[in-house]
Amino acid sequence: MKIKWLFTTLLILLMIAVIGRMVHHGAPYFEFTNAFACQLSLILLLATAFLHRFDKKLVIRWFLFVLLYALIPLTQLFTGEKVHSHAFMASFFFGSFIFCSICNLVYLIRIIKNNTVRRILLAVPSFLWFLSLIYPMMFYGYTMVEHAVFDQPIVSAIVHTNPIEVVSYLTSNYSASELVLYLSGIFVFAALLVYLAVKMNSSAAARELSAGQFVPAVAVALCCSSILAVSTVQLSNKGFDCLARQIISFANYVANSYTEFRDSRIRLAQSTVVELKNPEMKPSLFVLVIGESASSRFLQSYGYPQPTDPVTTEFLHKNELTGADLENPKSLNSINSINFTHAYSSYPQTIESLSLSLSGANQYNGKVLNEMLTLIDAARLAGFETFWIGNKQSESVGFTPPVTRIAQTADHSLFIPDSYIPKYGKYPYDEEILNNLPQLNPDRNTLVIINIKGSHTKYFERYPEKFDVFHDDPDAVINEYKNSLLYSDFVLSQLLDHFKSQPGFSAFIYFSDHGVEPAFKGDDHNVSKFTFSMVTIPFWVALSDKYVGDNAGTVRAMLDNRDKCFTNDLIYDFMLGLMGIRIESLDNREVDITSSSYSIDRQNCLTLYGKQRIDNDPKY
Ligand SMILES: [Zn+2]
Repeated sequence: MKIKWLFTTLLILLMIAVIGRMVHHGAPYFEFTNAFACQLSLILLLATAFLHRFDKKLVIRWFLFVLLYALIPLTQLFTGEKVHSHAFMASFFFGSFIFCSICNLVYLIRIIKNNTVRRILLAVPSFLWFLSLIYPMMFYGYTMVEHAVFDQPIVSAIVHTNPIEVVSYLTSNYSASELVLYLSGIFVFAALLVYLAVKMNSSAAARELSAGQFVPAVAVALCCSSILAVSTVQLSNKGFDCLARQIISFANYVANSYTEFRDSRIRLAQSTVVELKNPEMKPSLFVLVIGESASSRFLQSYGYPQPTDPVTTEFLHKNELTGADLENPKSLNSINSINFTHAYSSYPQTIESLSLSLSGANQYNGKVLNEMLTLIDAARLAGFETFWIGNKQSESVGFTPPVTRIAQTADHSLFIPDSYIPKYGKYPYDEEILNNLPQLNPDRNTLVIINIKGSHTKYFERYPEKFDVFHDDPDAVINEYKNSLLYSDFVLSQLLDHFKSQPGFSAFIYFSDHGVEPAFKGDDHNVSKFTFSMVTIPFWVALSDKYVGDNAGTVRAMLDNRDKCFTNDLIYDFMLGLMGIRIESLDNREVDITSSSYSIDRQNCLTLYGKQRIDNDPKY
C-alpha cells in the first residue's frame, strides 16, 4: 500500500515537472536541456523500479545495460578527445532512460490477456532490446578496429556511401582472412544479442501482475510519458548531452533533410531575385568540372616533381594569363588560364565539401545547405540551361545524398554508373563521360557541371591499363594514386578540348572536392586522421579570349587574387561572379574571388568546417 502511494506521488511529480517545463518555455516547444533530460530519466528510473517492485534480476540487468552506455565516452578519451564528466553522467542517464522505456513497454504488453496477441506484440520490445544493445557496441567496435571515435562524420560517410564503396573500403583495408574472421565474429555476436534481447523480455516483467485497475493505468501513464520523452529527445538537439544521443539526433537529421531540402528550395527560389550583369551576352557556356580526391600535393601543376598531370601542367603554363595580356588584349591566346595557388577544401569528405561548394552556405557565413540557394537554382533563375553529368551513382544505401539532390535539380542530369554497372558489372572509367556529353543549345546560356570519379579509392580501379605508368614508389598505393591522377589529366584535357570549341564557350573550371593522404589507404580522407594533404586541392580556370575581353574587371580581380588563400566552399560565389549572376539579397564580395574586395587570405582562411585554420598548414 505504501509503495502505491509513493509511486503515485512520484508520477504526479513527473507530470508536474513536464507540464511545468512546457508552460515555462511556452508549450509545446519546451526546451529539453541536459539537466532536465537527466532528471526525467531519474524519475522514470524510480517509477520503473517501483512498478517492477525492485526485482533483483532486473536491477542487475539495468546495471549492466546502463554501464554499456555510461562508458561510451571512454572511446573519446581513448582517442585523445577532451571529455567533460557530465558526458559520462548524460550517457548513464540516456542508457537508463532507454532501459526503463523498453521495460515499461514490456510491462504494458504483459497486461494483455490473449496469449497469441501478447506473444506477437512482445516481438516489438525484443527488437528494441536488440537495437539498444547493438548500438553502444558500434562505438566500442569502431574504436577498437579504427582507433578513432564513432562520430558524426562516420555516420555521414556511412549513409552517403553505396554498396560498391563499402565492399571497396573493406577489401582495401582488410585481407580476406581478416574479413572472414570479423564477419563471423559479428555474426556470432549478433546471434548472442538476439538471444539476450528475447531474454530481456522475460525478466522485465517476471512477476505476475496483481489484479485491479491501478497497475494497468500506471503502466499506460508510464508508457505515455516514455513515448513523450523519446519523441522529445528525437526532435530536440538538446538533452542527454553525450555522444550516444548526438549520433541518433544526427542520423535523424540526415533522414529528414531531404524533405527539408525540397521545401527550402521552393521557398528560396520564390523569394530570391536573381539577375544577369550582362543580359545581352548570349550565348555563354560555363563548364565546371568537380574532381574527386585529387590532392595538389601530388600534382605536377602544383610543384610535384613527377609528371602526374603533364597535359594540364603544360596547358596552364603555355596559356597563363598575365597582367600584361590584360593591358594589351591583342596578346591574348584563344584560351587563357589562371591557376589559383593556395586552394583548399572546406572538409576532407565529398558530401560535406560539395554541399557547401554547390550552395551559398560556407564556413564564413555559418549557413547550412538548406538555408541558401544552390548554384544550379541560381543559374536556372538567371536563365541558364543546366546540365549535370556524374560518374557517380545517384543513390547511397537507401538514401539520396545531398549532392545527388542538388544534381537532380539540373534541367538534365545523368548518373552514368546507374545504368552502366548493371550492364557491365563494373565501375565505369571517367572517359565514359566523354561518350555522354550533351548536345548544347546554341541560343541559350549554359552551365555544365561534370563530376568525375577521379582518384576515389581504390585508385587502381580508376584507370585503364595504359595509364599504369608509375612504379617508382616502394608503396604500391602511392603509385596507383599517381596513375589515377595521370588518367584524370587525360580526361580533363579531353573535356577541355571538346568544350572550348563549343559555341559561346566562356570558361572551363576545375577543382577537387578534397585531397587525400594516399598512404593511409582506405582512410585516405578520414577526418579523424586529418592531415593537410586531405584538403589541399587543385583549382584553375581556362577563359576564352572573348570572355577576358568582355569582363576585364572580373578577370583582373581573379589575377590579383590568384595567390590568396581560397577554400572550395566559395566555389558558389566564384561561379556567380564568373557567370555574372547577381543575387539581390546577397553581399558576398568579401568571399568572391572574382571581386576586388575578396578578403580571405592565409590568416582568416578555414577548413574542417571552420574548426581548423589553414595558417596551421606547415606547407602553406
Ligand atoms: Zn570525395
